[in-house]
Amino acid sequence: MPKLIEHTFATPVEVAPGILRVTLPLPSGPRHVHCFLLRGEDGWTLVDTGLGLPEPSWEEILAHVDGPVVRIFVTHMHPDHVGGAAPAARATGAPVFQGRLDYAQCERVWGSPDWPERIAGWFLSNGVPPAVADELIESGHVFADFVRFAWNPTLVEPGDEIDGWSVLAGPGHADGHLCLHRDGVLVAGDTLLAPITPAVGLYPESRPDPLGDYTGTLLAFAALDPHVSYGGHGETIHEPAARARAILAHHEERLDRTEAALSGQPRSGFEVSHDLFGTALPAIQRRFAVAEALSHLERLVVLGRARRHEDDRAVAYTAR
Ligand SMILES: [Zn+2]
Repeated sequence: MPKLIEHTFATPVEVAPGILRVTLPLPSGPRHVHCFLLRGEDGWTLVDTGLGLPEPSWEEILAHVDGPVVRIFVTHMHPDHVGGAAPAARATGAPVFQGRLDYAQCERVWGSPDWPERIAGWFLSNGVPPAVADELIESGHVFADFVRFAWNPTLVEPGDEIDGWSVLAGPGHADGHLCLHRDGVLVAGDTLLAPITPAVGLYPESRPDPLGDYTGTLLAFAALDPHVSYGGHGETIHEPAARARAILAHHEERLDRTEAALSGQPRSGFEVSHDLFGTALPAIQRRFAVAEALSHLERLVVLGRARRHEDDRAVAYTAR
């Protein structure tokens, strides 16, 4: 077993020459998120920003850093990455760069007060019982409280460059997820993680086959074969191509288990999530479990290994 990193919260740790890792606490999930500082000619680029509540004290964190933060890059619109973007921009005076597609989704999800109700309606159509959907609405509003994204950032696209780093697309965990790559160093956000595996869920008003997208990302990163990858959670990955292949195998296995949960009788994403992740999950985790079951069910439909049945009220799946 590799030794797990010890999280020295908020004090920058040099992980490579010119690359600092800043670890911030999270109230749930992996309990921490890594932001990175990349040294450039004119100052530092901050990659990702933690949650907006409580506000990280960037003045204190950056007192350990020689030189100003001159730009902020957000890998994707999940609360633990984009949530602190506005406070970080305020503390540093630096402009925020975010992917065009990612920002559109960020505004739609965190900028519209009715999003938790809309997503709950969608969960209902995927078999989630009303009482559980109510809990999902509540947990959705709780999430939103932690998000202080930056309005109207500078929009970037895959293929752009940011201070000598290439912007790469890494869809799957989030549709518009972007990564930075330079000289064999990948700043991966949540595309490649270890030891945990990035969640890949289907959500409304999003791309239709996120697991297919993610498979493409993993194959591309295996081919890119960087020598090191820094992720948003967990360990530095020293064999990124091998890790990408291991995550591919993990999803192959989960696809097999998802297929095995189907029969001639239509089953909802909610029901299948119990086969994959067990019956005893709190609402917030059930939300991810249903989304993850659905991403695998939709992948099976695309692969011709399952059928989707849909009317105006419900979606269900059968074996092929
Ligand atoms: Zn994350």
